Amino acid sequence: MPPETCQDHRSRIAIGIDIGGTTFTVCAVERDGVRITDTTGPTPATDDPDDMVAGLAAAAAHLVTAVAQTHAAPVDGIGIGVPGTVSADGGTVVDCPNLTVLNGLAVPALMSERFGVPAFINNDAYCAALGELRYGAGRGHPNVLVVTLGTGVGGGVAIDNRVLRGPRGILGEIGHIIIDPDGPPCSCGANGCLEALVGKDAIIRRACEGLRQNPQSRLAEAPDAITPRLIAELAAQGDEYCRQIVDWIGECVGLALADAIVLCDPDVVLIGGGIAGAGEMLLEAIRHSVGRHSRISGFDPSNVIACGLGAGAGAVGAAALVFECDGAPA
Ligand SMILES: [Zn+2]
Repeated sequence: MPPETCQDHRSRIAIGIDIGGTTFTVCAVERDGVRITDTTGPTPATDDPDDMVAGLAAAAAHLVTAVAQTHAAPVDGIGIGVPGTVSADGGTVVDCPNLTVLNGLAVPALMSERFGVPAFINNDAYCAALGELRYGAGRGHPNVLVVTLGTGVGGGVAIDNRVLRGPRGILGEIGHIIIDPDGPPCSCGANGCLEALVGKDAIIRRACEGLRQNPQSRLAEAPDAITPRLIAELAAQGDEYCRQIVDWIGECVGLALADAIVLCDPDVVLIGGGIAGAGEMLLEAIRHSVGRHSRISGFDPSNVIACGLGAGAGAVGAAALVFECDGAPA
């Protein structure tokens, strides 16, 4: 529930902006989660903060106009998700490693200034978890663990119907649970984190390295075109080597989940992100791993399910920041 101090608890329509390293998604959402309209585009490739803010504002303005036309109603606020950390007061971007132009920017204040409505910001994984909790596959489950498998591996935890981020903003960062201390280096500086093993690039690297021993795999036909999606598609078509890779991804994710489950005791675990597009085969591999490794929790592996909002979870969750007055209003 929104805090009592929230001044905008009657807000009906919000815009959510999910800023990724290469693309962004903007959507207009009603309080009940109905998506009015959305759009995606390339994240402005610029080192100039003014250009970046102008690009985001232009995308938001497009939707403000659309809402005015279709609903004859104003937008009540703007929420923004960024691929990095934000200050504890929710006013400033602290560190976005893949989008450093945002670092130090008071994005909520800048957007609020332009549009004359409250603006809020949070980490993209937090937003995705909030979106799933309120409007996605987490709806009706107060305790939810969300894992996003993509270029990086993100996560979010909701306990008692609220997404938690912790005092340093790292709560739920399942991508940095260490699976293999002797494993490959991770972007965080440690070795063998889940992300270092099953992040997109790591999967592609592993698949390439194993091709010599598996020349019969159809992956060998186009070694430069290997993607997690292709691996998943070929696995579904019966390619044994690809099947082994999917099983291995599932094993790693399940190992991390076994740790996470005993720490946050979720009702459901939601798997999303681009690599989750591998579909039921990957989910099944994850469930199998969870079943083998998570003994004490009594967690039913069938409660590992797919996210409900797809790639739009981050933007919908960013909009939900407005409805919850989540963060410091600018
Ligand atoms: Zn790490």
